[in-house]
Parts: sequence; C-alpha cells; structure tokens
Amino acid sequence: MPNLVPDVETHGIIITDQVGNVLLAPPTKPFKNVYELAKISRGLSSMITYRDRLRDVLLEGVPVKWNKKCIKYVETQEGIWVFFEDGTQEFCNILVCADGLILQVIRKQKLPELQIVNYGITHVGADISIPKHLMDKANKIHGNVLARKTLGTKGDSTFMMTRLIPIKQEQNDEKNEPHYRATLVYSYPSELDNVESEKVKVDDNDPSSVIEHVKRLIRTLRPDCTLTNLLLELWDLAPKTIPNDPIKFPFKTYNPIQRRMMRDIDPMSIKSWSSSRVVLLGDAAHSMSPILGLGANNAIQDADKLSQALLKYSDDNISFIEEYEKEMLKRTSADVLKSRNVTFMTSTPLGPFGVIIRDNILKVINVMINFYSFADNLIFKN
Ligand SMILES: Cc1cc2nc3c(=O)[nH]c(=O)nc-3n(C[C@H](O)[C@H](O)[C@H](O)COP(=O)(O)OP(=O)(O)OC[C@H]3O[C@@H](n4cnc5c(N)ncnc54)[C@H](O)[C@@H]3O)c2cc1C
Repeated sequence: MPNLVPDVETHGIIITDQVGNVLLAPPTKPFKNVYELAKISRGLSSMITYRDRLRDVLLEGVPVKWNKKCIKYVETQEGIWVFFEDGTQEFCNILVCADGLILQVIRKQKLPELQIVNYGITHVGADISIPKHLMDKANKIHGNVLARKTLGTKGDSTFMMTRLIPIKQEQNDEKNEPHYRATLVYSYPSELDNVESEKVKVDDNDPSSVIEHVKRLIRTLRPDCTLTNLLLELWDLAPKTIPNDPIKFPFKTYNPIQRRMMRDIDPMSIKSWSSSRVVLLGDAAHSMSPILGLGANNAIQDADKLSQALLKYSDDNISFIEEYEKEMLKRTSADVLKSRNVTFMTSTPLGPFGVIIRDNILKVINVMINFYSFADNLIFKN
C-alpha cells in the first residue's frame, strides 16, 4: 500500500451524479502514512492495495501446488481425504477451504443449503494505465481523490480507483508522458444483457466485445456530457486482448475482462452452521458485493483469526474451530448485509422524482459529514 504522494493525492472518496455534480465528498485529512490512516475509526476514506504486490506477499514462503483442482473430500474418524481432478489425493487433519465464489466445490459439499443471492446486477472491471492528459481531465471533474464513483439514473454506476504514482509503461506511451494505474468498474442492471436489439454479440472470452458492450451501455444510459466522454475514453484504454504473458501486463496480474454477476452469500442465512474439520474461509463462506471493499479484508481477517485458533489445535477436540466460526460468522454476515444494502441503494433505476430524492439525501449527508468533521476538528484542536 504505497503511501500518498504528498500534496498531490488524498485518501478521499467522491461520489458525483452522471454529469459530475458532487453528491458526497467526505472531508479528507493529510495522513503521514497508511498506518496512521488505519487507526481512524470514523469517516469515509479509501486506501489502495496493489493486488499484484498483495499476491506476492501472500505467496511468500507458501509452497503452492498450482493447477490442482479439488473435486471432493471424505471425512473419516482420523481426518480428511482430499481428492483432486488429476487423480491424486492427500490426507490431512484440517481442511481449510478458501475456494472463492465461482466453483464452490467444497462449500457445496459441506453446506449445500447455503444460498447464493443474485442481485440482478452485472459488473465489468478492468485495470488500465492512464496517460497524464486524461488523468488531468479526470482530476478536473473529481479532484485527486483515490476513489471516484458516479451514479447514473438507470441503475448504472461507475467506479474508478487510481494512484497518481507514475508507472513504468511500455505500451501506449507514444507521447512519452507519464502513465498511472487505475481500476475501472462499470455496473448495470443484468436485464440489459438480454436486450434483443443488441446488434453485437457479447462473448465473455473476447475482451473487446465486452468493452464494446460497456461503451454501448454508457452511450445509451448516460447523457452526452464531458463526464460520459471521459468514461468512454477510459474504457478505450482497457486491454482488448488477453495478454499472452501476464507478467508483461503492466500490473502483472490480469483479470479477464468479463461480465460478472454481482452475488453474495450471507453465512448467517442458514439455521445452523455445522462445525467440522472442514473449515471455510473468505469468499467461499461469505462472498459480498465489492461496493465497500470489504471482501478481501474479511478473508485476511479470517486467515488471521483461524491461524490463532489453530494454535489451540488438539487431535480430539474441534472446539477451536467453533470459536473461529462464531467470530467469523458474526463479523462477515454484518458486512455482507451492509454491502448488499449500499449496492441496492445505489443501483436502483430511478425516475426523475427518485433522482431528485436520492441526490438530495446524499447532499444532506454530505453537509452533515462535513459539518461534524469541522466541529470535530474544532473540539480536538481546542
Ligand atoms: C470488482 C471487485 C472489486 C473488489 N474490490 C475489493 C476491495 O476493494 N477490497 C476488498 O477487500 N475486496 C474486494 N473485492 C473482493 C475480493 O476480491 C474477494 O473478497 C477476495 O478475492 C476473496 O478471496 P478468496 O481467497 O476468499 O477467494 P478468491 O480470490 O476467489 O480465490 C479462490 C481461489 O480458489 C481457487 N479454487 C476455486 N475452486 C477450487 C478448487 N475446487 N480446487 C482448487 N482451487 C480452487 C480459485 O481458482 C481461486 O484462485 C473485490 C471483488 C471484485 C469482484
């Protein structure tokens, strides 16, 4: 998590309407570093972790066996047999299942009754590198905050996270100007994927068709204005082919540019959670909407809590797993529901009257947050 570029960046988040009018811009303070920011208990701010660096750190000293797919497990009195697609098997005392949301092989075997909730919202994300002249345009609208969101009126929204640290850039640098890394996300009602008048077929294995689809939706759902043109220019920067060598990709990790359904799992939505030697962690147990940026944070907290619980391991008693699960369920269920609510609040298509109400509610919240922060500062300064 690189510290802020002093006097250039702020850990802020800004939400605007579809033409760039500010709806919510909580005040930001200058923090010395991310450790100082991590200590604050109140307020809305953002911090950016580079996913490729985070992966490197998490993989340090871990002997991962790649390209093995777990297909099932069998529990015995002594432990668990784990079976893989390549015909191999392993025996273990505790099986920690962190298989995410997509496949859910182990989760489905352990807790088949746990339901995935589909929001009816599709999102597309892309990592891009932005040349300075476009970054300047974006900063003119949003200021130099790290997180920028725009709310449409038809249930669509955009999100951009960016750092103003110039990156080493081999492509797209004809003008020899600095480039910056950014992540773009566009969300829209999934029913728009099924509109029959769509002239071009969208193929999720072909990034260029997905990007064209996103641009088409932006042109259809957004008014003709500077912000819309900027969004279109930014999406034009998304890689249109799958890189042959992800290492050469500017940020080393490449997430395929595909449409994804927004879904979640509330781990407390079932009556009982049976503790056993098979333990769930991360999205496998509690996938949540990305809107508040809490998914990986919770997965990492799970890993921390489970590591502590494992120190109490004994062969004949799994109460330490129950302790881990009790804490994990409470913490993560709350975040799943909070993220779900905020997603629905910002993704509901609105009529003209609804837009006025939404925008005014956000503006009032904005005034209140800024007022309390001002008062807070006065009190603490005196
Ligand atoms: C657009 C977007 C933005 C996000 N932004 C944020 C953010 O700002 N902050 C935040 O905290 N979180 C964020 N998240 C959420 C975060 O990405 C997830 O919560 C996190 O990746 C979950 O980690 P995980 O290890 O549990 O699951 P995953 O990252 O899904 O990893 C699961 C792994 O298990 C492997 N696997 C699956 N099945 C099997 C099998 N049967 N055998 C072997 N391997 C298997 C998969 O290949 C995968 O590598 C975001 C998510 C999205 C989609």
